[in-house]
Amino acid sequence: MSKNTIRSIKGTHDILPDQSWRWQQLENHVHDFMHRYGYREIRTPVFERTELFARGVGTDTDIVSKEMYTFRDMSNNSITLKPELTAPVIRSYLQHNLGRLTPLTKLYYIDHAFRQERPQAGRYRQFHQYGVEALGSPHPEIDAEIIAIAYFSLLELGLENLTIKLNSIGSRECRIAFRAALQHFLKPHLGDLSETSKSRFNTNPLRILDTKIPHEIEIVQGAPAMSDYLTAEDVQHYNQVKSHLNDLNIPFEEDNKLVRGLDYYTRTTFEIISPALGAQNSVCGGGRYDGLIETLGGKPTPGIGFAAGIERILMAAAVSQSEEPTVLVYLIVIDDDGRSTAFKLLHDLRDKGINADMDYLHRSMKSQLREANRLGAELVLIIGSEELKDGTVQFKNLKTGSQKAIPLDSVLAEISEKPD
Ligand code: ATP
Ligand code: MG
Repeated sequence: MSKNTIRSIKGTHDILPDQSWRWQQLENHVHDFMHRYGYREIRTPVFERTELFARGVGTDTDIVSKEMYTFRDMSNNSITLKPELTAPVIRSYLQHNLGRLTPLTKLYYIDHAFRQERPQAGRYRQFHQYGVEALGSPHPEIDAEIIAIAYFSLLELGLENLTIKLNSIGSRECRIAFRAALQHFLKPHLGDLSETSKSRFNTNPLRILDTKIPHEIEIVQGAPAMSDYLTAEDVQHYNQVKSHLNDLNIPFEEDNKLVRGLDYYTRTTFEIISPALGAQNSVCGGGRYDGLIETLGGKPTPGIGFAAGIERILMAAAVSQSEEPTVLVYLIVIDDDGRSTAFKLLHDLRDKGINADMDYLHRSMKSQLREANRLGAELVLIIGSEELKDGTVQFKNLKTGSQKAIPLDSVLAEISEKPD
């Protein structure tokens, strides 16, 4: 590559043709899957007012405090490339009053997100997620349905040995008491905590439970357990979620240190982990956010959702569910007289829904045959002036090696007869 060529921005990736078909397959699968569960797609703009994320995600989260791509537009508005999808979906839900149409609004998305993180395997600056948001029901069945969608969609996408980590972080009321107890416990250890944890001590002490630093993990081992602070209703809700999961044979591990990074989560919180990934082993995170819609200016409305990282899913799904679609028929032109017949036939084949291609480089017959093989074509049609005199073309099956002359006007019938 010459010094003059321009490269992509660090942490962003081109999805090249040898991979893009896997993305298409995943996306098709997600659409089908979501329709089965009664969720409808929503697409929101790539950028939003910065305030949406400041309010909807929370200013002391990692996302808002250090990961956003924020800039001023020409009218001096502060704009942010969306770092996550829940806040934009809720914004749209409120703006268009979707709750008026259906008291339980079930939405899904397949989209990109932008976060200025240190790029590494499984962590990029532009990445993709699919996810769902169910808005309007506080009941445990919907929590179980959301976890079921996350889990079964990942299984159908070819992920194996997944672990679901589950916790309830209770309602906002009991979080106040827990927060105070946690601060009381952490206070004597404050000197041993990292700068990040120290700054979280006042703003978001629950996040310290989620630490990845070994000596902090040791400290928080002895911390009070959220489960001791849940209200009776919280406990009942949590037990019902677990019972529904058991009914669906969805395995889970309870993890009372699992707190999501976002401020608006309440009660159910979960994460799905794949052993096929390295350090960034979380494929999916989600939970209930009964406080969010109100935070964004709506009337109090319960909500729950998850987001799954598509790059990580494609990394973890080592075995692809099916093969890249290939060209079925390749047309080989022997001489210039055959070219326009071939060109027209090519169009007819494609018009009938058959994957077909031909050579546009006027190459030798040998190179054309090589190209047919490279493309994985099963059938070739060899078209030249000699055969066309009798109104025929050569029809060759590259799999079996059989070859015969067939009338030009029976090509379509012959190809449709070929068993798949
Ligand atoms: P992590 O702990 O890995 O930073 P997170 O808590 O920031 O994850 P969420 O905001 O819950 O992640 O996003 C849901 C999913 O999106 C993650 O489980 C992961 O699969 C994917 N994801 C998050 N950030 C990135 C990124 N920078 N690059 C690629 N995928 C990501
Ligand atoms: Mg993160």
